[in-house]
Amino acid sequence: PPPAEKFEYQAEVSRLMDLIVNSLYSNKEVFLRELISNASDALDKLRYLSVTNPELSKDAADLDIRIYADKENGVITLTDSGIGMTRQELVDCLGTIAQSGTAKFLKALKDNKDAGGDNNLIGQFGVGFYSAFLVADRVTVSTKSPKSDKQYVWEGEADSSSYTIKEETDPQLIIPRGTRIALHLKRDDKGFADPERIQKLVKNYSQFVSFPIYTWQEKGYTKEVEVDDDPVESKKDDQDDQMERKKKTKKVIERYWDWELTNETQPIWLRNSKEVTTEEYNEFYRNTFNEYLDPLASSHFTTEGEVEFRSILYVPPVSLTGKDDVVNQKTKNIRLYVKRVFISDDFDGELFPRYLSFIKGVVDSHDLPLNVSREILQESRIVRIMKKRLVKKAFDMILGISLSENREDYEKFWDNFGKHLKLGCIEDRENHKRIAPLLRFFSSQSEDYMISLDEYVENMKAEQKAIYYIASDSVTSAKNAPFLEKLMEKELEVLYLVEPIDEVAIQSLKSYKDKDFIDISKEDLDLGDKNEEKEAAVKKEFGQTCDWIKKRLGDKVARVQISSRLSSSPCVLVSGKFGWSANMERLMKAQSA
Ligand code: ADP
Ligand code: MG
Repeated sequence: PPPAEKFEYQAEVSRLMDLIVNSLYSNKEVFLRELISNASDALDKLRYLSVTNPELSKDAADLDIRIYADKENGVITLTDSGIGMTRQELVDCLGTIAQSGTAKFLKALKDNKDAGGDNNLIGQFGVGFYSAFLVADRVTVSTKSPKSDKQYVWEGEADSSSYTIKEETDPQLIIPRGTRIALHLKRDDKGFADPERIQKLVKNYSQFVSFPIYTWQEKGYTKEVEVDDDPVESKKDDQDDQMERKKKTKKVIERYWDWELTNETQPIWLRNSKEVTTEEYNEFYRNTFNEYLDPLASSHFTTEGEVEFRSILYVPPVSLTGKDDVVNQKTKNIRLYVKRVFISDDFDGELFPRYLSFIKGVVDSHDLPLNVSREILQESRIVRIMKKRLVKKAFDMILGISLSENREDYEKFWDNFGKHLKLGCIEDRENHKRIAPLLRFFSSQSEDYMISLDEYVENMKAEQKAIYYIASDSVTSAKNAPFLEKLMEKELEVLYLVEPIDEVAIQSLKSYKDKDFIDISKEDLDLGDKNEEKEAAVKKEFGQTCDWIKKRLGDKVARVQISSRLSSSPCVLVSGKFGWSANMERLMKAQSA
């Protein structure tokens, strides 16, 4: 056979391996969860592809994961009958870090450092294949893809910047399909190669993998064995002989080794929601999405009738897209199954509108065809109905957080995803009724914590007809605006819109509970206190002054007029009724700069 070929890792990989080993030192056991999760992904891929191409899975029907712990030699072997890898895929997948888990890990590591560093958090984080080197000093991956006739072996060592690939030649190790990973444990970590320990780890970390995970376990059953005749006893009467012999047995435990099913294979979403605990939902979330923090909320439901599907949705605790870029188009946040077969997690607005793309979850449909393609998804009536229901459930879930006694939960939500909802005001007219109660703003009467529109409405004066707002770049500049004087005097509350997106969002809503939103910086602000006689008198007195000012300012202003809206400032600049507000002008200027 040709000799093994040697490859160098992509530069980041060796660095990453160092980082992993150093920062996860106290939490080595995550390696098993990572390898199982990869095996499960590989099985998902195979199952999905074999829906349209049954040939793929003909060689070995069972889709499962088997873990063998060899205590004597300190070796753990993990085998899956999944999609495997071709030679090129070995190079691409195990020699580079283009993968999701590892990229996220690097980000978390950085965030963690910025935040002062708490390595424990990272310990629960998804780091992917390279975590094998936490416990092993040598890892071999022998793998056979249905796309290739040959089986290849990848081998890497913990402190090396290169790895090798060769053809599998040992006939005993040839597998029909899938991947077999052998971890040759470091001297101090040989303790992991213990069947009971492995069993515990599987139960702990991989309970919700939807393929059976078998571990090689020692078992025993009791059986009765005959005991040798006692020479003294046998001298007894012949006729008692038979009875005596029956009594001369004893119970022994017969030991043997066999594969034992170690996880719960029924998907959690198929279970009755009354029987699933919050901790189980959280665990499923962390496992499925490779997250290390618990979700803010979850919702498990079934819909029947026109369209039937089951789903568990989650609101993540933090936004991974970062504060400034609101919508990350491709998220892999929703995993779609059809009759338990994983179909795809690559969506772009088909199941959730873009602005809700932060919602994570699983959706299992009974009505879609197994070979559903992107085109079908985009045009399907069923998918449209599903989307409507999912969106409704997502809003219910968010509303649930906002009604929680723990005010901090919603503050956390708003901090992370408030912008998404404001984008929803602009993009999704149909759901205005659901979005509006979720919005939060500072106001002239609440500068330290944000209030809801409901709280505003409740606080309105009896004669007040509209919801007043002022858009500005900060609470400080909003509250110093002269426009506010008259309203403050009358104790009318004014919302402070201080985020760039706020003004457009509010203008898209137009009104809330039949009360129009009114920008107090616009020229025709009417507070219902017109005194025409007095105004006429003042106009007469100051008419010439206005003309003079207008002459001096020329084209810089459209008009100079007498106003009744100020109480202590002598004058104020206002925007025309139909023009942009000053805040909008500022934003547009910033954008075109
Ligand atoms: P991630 O799982 O986030 O993609 P990993 O580092 O865990 O990152 O895995 C890297 C890639 O290696 C996977 O995306 C997959 O393509 C490939 N891979 C790893 N383990 C297996 C396996 N058991 N069978 C098939 N492919 C695998
Ligand atoms: Mg992985």
